[in-house]
Amino acid sequence: MPVGRDRVTIVGASLAGYWVAETLRRDGFKGVVSLIGDEPHVPYDRPPLSKKYLAGGVERHRVDLGDAEKLADLDLDMRLGHRATGLNVAAHTLEVDGVAEPFDGLVIATGARCRTLPGTDGVAGVHTLRTVDDADAIRAVVDAGAQRLVVVGAGFIGAEVASTAVERGLEVTMVEALEAPFGRVLGVEMGEVLADVHRGHGVNLRTGVGVDEVLAEPDSGGRSRVVGIRLADGSEVRADLVVAGIGVVPNVAWLEGSGLELADGLVCDETCLAATDVVAAGDVARWTNPRYGESMRVEHWDNAVQQGVHAARRLLQSDEEAQPFSPVPWFWSDQYDRKVQLAGRTHPDAEVSVVTGSVEEHRFVAYYGHAGRFLGALGMNRPRHVMQSKGLLEQGATWDEALAFAADWD
Ligand code: FAD
Ligand code: NAP
Repeated sequence: MPVGRDRVTIVGASLAGYWVAETLRRDGFKGVVSLIGDEPHVPYDRPPLSKKYLAGGVERHRVDLGDAEKLADLDLDMRLGHRATGLNVAAHTLEVDGVAEPFDGLVIATGARCRTLPGTDGVAGVHTLRTVDDADAIRAVVDAGAQRLVVVGAGFIGAEVASTAVERGLEVTMVEALEAPFGRVLGVEMGEVLADVHRGHGVNLRTGVGVDEVLAEPDSGGRSRVVGIRLADGSEVRADLVVAGIGVVPNVAWLEGSGLELADGLVCDETCLAATDVVAAGDVARWTNPRYGESMRVEHWDNAVQQGVHAARRLLQSDEEAQPFSPVPWFWSDQYDRKVQLAGRTHPDAEVSVVTGSVEEHRFVAYYGHAGRFLGALGMNRPRHVMQSKGLLEQGATWDEALAFAADWD
């Protein structure tokens, strides 16, 4: 950032925003850092919300990203419970709760929010899961004695909530319109392995069928309360709790009219710059990853951290110093006693090869390749091998090189 500019404002006080603030300070930025978040909480971590925190095994303060001392050290102008409502890029002003204020550098890290099932507004017992308040609300329904859970969508939220609920003793049905859970992320063959894991834990998995209607009846207080769902094939499943995990939409509505390019996220260049002195990071950011030569938006923890670090540095750099952001994406998901990890990406026409372990035993690594390129490594309870494979992906190994590398494992 040019000398003489000394106020950086970060919008979004969550994972990416926290790592921007941390990096600015670690790299010696001495100016004012404002962190503005519309949730009333200090920055916290979301992964436990569908896992141990939802299960009740983690105290509230343990999900916070930094303790009070660490936050004090960062010396932030932290404004929680406040919402950015507009932006004028040319004038370098941000509107917070309708009031314009100046900035020198701006970071947009507003993440994403859940899609909701149509017609379920105000229906008790129908939930989404994004925030710690959402997790508390779901826990309260379970603690009040809910016994039958339907998860709609067999993506990350669906699979993780199902697994936590099974461990809490609930009867679980998982509904997915595609042929297999995680079908779009992992392909049908590997999606079927996850289906097997869930069925093995007693989940009633209904794939290839959508939800037609959420069924509700008035409760004793006259409030509409969920009693089940009707599927597109006409069958009904009774439920006292429904959790919809049907994807997210990036939080960009407040940027309409700002002049920034919006297209399923905030569009940035290869270096995460959206406009002069404006950068973006995390679930909200769409950028061209030069490693793939494609525009992408990644909705996972590691990306929010790495892109937060990168975006902070970008703001402090001149155009000449700026570097592209070119990670190999990576995520993990904990389901029952299985750790599922994917480094890299898949492709609808990819060849899939199990390179070590046993699919039947749910402990293996599978490689995805297409047109001679090594694209991705999926592991189940094989973290060391997935991390080694990530290194290979970073080096740009070919499909044959990757298979030869993995052959040494057995
Ligand atoms: P977010 O975490 O969405 O934060 C954005 C923040 O900005 C929010 O606090 C939002 O309220 C705020 N905000 C939005 N608009 C405004 C505005 N106009 N003004 C002020 N503030 C605003 N990833 C993994 O890789 N592994 C996992 O196991 C995993 N588990 C997960 C479990 C759950 C339940 C969830 C929800 C996500 C999980 N993820 C996981 C994904 C990971 O948590 C996200 O990728 C990450 O939180 C993205 O961080 P972010 O800072 O970009 O956005
Ligand atoms: P997701 O992983 O994108 O999965 C959504 C699933 O719901 C997909 O299978 C999708 O199918 C299906 N779906 C979409 N619209 C539907 C509809 N109207 N009716 C029924 N099914 C529908 O999203 P998510 O599970 O809701 O997770 C939300 C966010 O949290 C994501 O960003 C996710 O990455 C993140 N998260 C990550 C982790 C992790 O990395 N371990 C854990 C929890 C949450 P289609 O593919 O056909 O659209």
